[in-house]
Amino acid sequence: MPKTVLVTGGAGYIGSHACKALKAAGYLPVTYDSLVTGWQDAVKFGPFEQGDLADRARLDAVFARWKPDAVMHFAALSLVGDAMRDPGLYWRANVLSSLTLIEAAVAAGCLDFVFSSTCATYGDQDGVVLDENTKQEPINAYGKSKLAIELMLGDFAAAHGLRPVIFRYFNVAGADPEGEVGEHHRPETHLIPLILDAVDGKRPALTVFGSDYPTPDGTCIRDYVHVMDLVDAHLLGLNWLEQGKPPRTFCLGTGQGFSVRQVLEQSQRITNRDVPVTYGARRAGDAVKLVCGSDRAVAELGWRPTRSSMRDMIADAWRWHQSGRYER
Ligand code: UDP
Repeated sequence: MPKTVLVTGGAGYIGSHACKALKAAGYLPVTYDSLVTGWQDAVKFGPFEQGDLADRARLDAVFARWKPDAVMHFAALSLVGDAMRDPGLYWRANVLSSLTLIEAAVAAGCLDFVFSSTCATYGDQDGVVLDENTKQEPINAYGKSKLAIELMLGDFAAAHGLRPVIFRYFNVAGADPEGEVGEHHRPETHLIPLILDAVDGKRPALTVFGSDYPTPDGTCIRDYVHVMDLVDAHLLGLNWLEQGKPPRTFCLGTGQGFSVRQVLEQSQRITNRDVPVTYGARRAGDAVKLVCGSDRAVAELGWRPTRSSMRDMIADAWRWHQSGRYER
């Protein structure tokens, strides 16, 4: 019998890649997804249960049916701009729904819990390499909602023996190099897919959000990590729990920062096409620079990112983009 993992958000970008990696590693990934932002045709690697995380009765039925050995909790709203405009939506969809899921998992005795958190929990700490010891001071409602869930997991670990492994992602990019799944958000808001849309004329131009930041070229700096490397870390996290190791938090990035302009230049080089660009105002809630210290994931999990060069991330995203399969 394969071990079963309940994957919330398994129909989304990172969740669908995680399901592929779980299946390849011999697990049964059961996707739980509302399809509000996910895609049913991205559920290719195991059973699908449609449901809302706020629906406790539905969750209880799914836990009873599949008796998962672990949960991987990807489902969330994750757009900084939306979170600034409508914080209530983020507190409800992220925090309240996660509370419902965590309580359902504890009630079902499913205590191994891998959680997707974010570098947005750090806020704007310019000049600092952000790692697990950095103070978390989120500046937007998205980061605050994820920090609240991290704190909640700690309380449930102390009171109920929940065993969370928390991953704080930096900027996730790229796509499955085999082209089975890829990135498709509606609406798309992320830098690399938007650049690729501008490259092939699906959008008139990429708007750079702010060119007066205190960085060498005036644009924001982010640390990009390939989605395949990211999901590899999740398998290592699962393995960590299976070995009976304690709850732990890991940052996932490469330690290398790229400015928006640098990502644009590399995209032009890799696609061999011009990217039409306009310059706009700063986006509310954006930190100047987010760069990750991932020494702990490397040392303790044995994480070895292999595809997280900017070249591979853009090339894999471009291949997926050109396949046309993301245009559902
Ligand atoms: N960005 C931009 N134009 C866009 C989308 C994003 O200049 O149309 C910038 C954004 O301000 C940030 C970086 O690209 O500095 C990465 O943004 P993204 O939305 O991809 O990820 P986030 O950092 O918000 O998680």
